[in-house]
Amino acid sequence: MKFCSNCGSDQIVFIIPKGDNNRRFVCNNCDTIFYHNPKIVVGCIPLYQGKILLCRRAIQPRFGFWNLPGGYMENGETVEDGAKRETQEEANVEITLHHLHSVFNLPTVNQVFLHFIATVNKIDLSPTLESSELRLFEFEEIPWNELAFHSNKFALETFLQNKEKKETKVHIGSFWK
Ligand SMILES: [Zn+2]
Repeated sequence: MKFCSNCGSDQIVFIIPKGDNNRRFVCNNCDTIFYHNPKIVVGCIPLYQGKILLCRRAIQPRFGFWNLPGGYMENGETVEDGAKRETQEEANVEITLHHLHSVFNLPTVNQVFLHFIATVNKIDLSPTLESSELRLFEFEEIPWNELAFHSNKFALETFLQNKEKKETKVHIGSFWK
């Protein structure tokens, strides 16, 4: 960080502010402390007639890999609304959310993923700006080696575990890169 976004000064220092435990960027001119906290990524496992809807990524990172719909939560929305919006953007479908399924920590890149279980209200498999292909997969067809992210793999693996045990347990996982 070079310039203060509050006053425009270049007097930015990286110090532990009084009463804090972590180093922060602090403006020496206006005393603003800049806190950088993890981002929340919200998405879902979209189910339709016993199959899972996956999106093939038309954007970086992991271009061309399969993905559960999801993305960064926006200010002013709930996690539920964020999951619905991201699913609409990436998969062009409206969903009904049921319950939280998994929480996945990525401490080294400062992200937390939340995946809900959802059902697709009306299917539409036409591509979107963010997905080059949309496809329904049987559970045994999931392309494990072509999944975009660890968070997806975790959500889908634990979904199948729940299914086998007839549970609706919420799973918490982490990946340290
Ligand atoms: Zn300032």
